[in-house]
Amino acid sequence: MNRRSFVKAAAAAPVAGLAAPAATGTTLTTKIVRLNLQHTWTTTMSSSQYRDTLHVAYVRDGITGHGEGAPIVRYHEDAEGAQKAVESVRGLLLSGDPMQFAKIMSQIFKQVPGEWAGKAAIDIALMDWVGQKLGIPLYSYFGLDPADTPLTTFSIGIDTPEITRQKTREAADYPVLKVKVGLATDEPTIEAVRSVTDKPLRVDANEGWKSKEEAVSKINWLEKHGVQFIEQPLPAEMIEETRWVRSRVHIPIIADEACQHASDIPKLKDAFDGVNVKLDKSGGMLEAYRMIQIAKSLGMKTMLGCMISSSATVTAAAHLSPLVDYADLDGNLLIANDPFHGVKVEKGKLVLPKGPGLGLTPA
Ligand code: MG
Repeated sequence: MNRRSFVKAAAAAPVAGLAAPAATGTTLTTKIVRLNLQHTWTTTMSSSQYRDTLHVAYVRDGITGHGEGAPIVRYHEDAEGAQKAVESVRGLLLSGDPMQFAKIMSQIFKQVPGEWAGKAAIDIALMDWVGQKLGIPLYSYFGLDPADTPLTTFSIGIDTPEITRQKTREAADYPVLKVKVGLATDEPTIEAVRSVTDKPLRVDANEGWKSKEEAVSKINWLEKHGVQFIEQPLPAEMIEETRWVRSRVHIPIIADEACQHASDIPKLKDAFDGVNVKLDKSGGMLEAYRMIQIAKSLGMKTMLGCMISSSATVTAAAHLSPLVDYADLDGNLLIANDPFHGVKVEKGKLVLPKGPGLGLTPA
């Protein structure tokens, strides 16, 4: 039944209270969406051909806010858990005033343990709704200039040298590449990329190197091959060892797995040069904004990253990207069935949509 026929039916039926839901018209839909990858995606953690993410649609006053969360296996999350988490706060979302989004998110952070992707999906849907309600794009809500978006890297997952060369050629439009390493094949991977291009590279080891000595020798080798910085060389808990590594290398070291929340950041100072903030780790845009500001206040570099996800999450992160030094926002470019159009990439630069809220349109 559409809204109009529902209102008509409600008017015809003399049932007390039936018109109340139509008056508010607030609904919440949660759905697990399977995103198919263009290439099998391999990192030190896993290898897969698809990813399931949780999509949330929050409807009120005829406005639909879209949100998404990509559960992170590293933090023992999956899409079903994220969906259960969102469903557990359905009552709060349907009865709360969405203009009090910070209060709502604070209550949810207190009530729901873990499930950061589920929280991110709610936060993004609420922020999309609020932006549309106010009639402004979210970059304006945060007081940012869309001309300040950084370049984004395009990521090359771990593969055979032949496929690595092919993926590098396919990334011709991107001026900076991010290469995943951390397995036994690091040197052949970098050599395969370098046989095709001399572009600047950023390298993500995803905790793949197991000793500080190995990390130092790999990073010094990578520096000779035009690598700008290295992400998470050692396991997250090896902060002291990373501090030792940092004093023996010249390129910046960025924390990813070691930096999930705002409270992680102060102890990373001096061991890492910067932090990679992701909405799926932090629990949404509000917390990601806070993390970026804390890192900046400590004099650290900031980066926005993403998981493999649709244009909903990637566009949400992109609206905050005028704040950061580096962006790795290509998760939507790696999938074949994106349900949305949102942020675009032109010669590597993020181009934000001008529409209100996230500015998403259906694909
Ligand atoms: Mg990373």
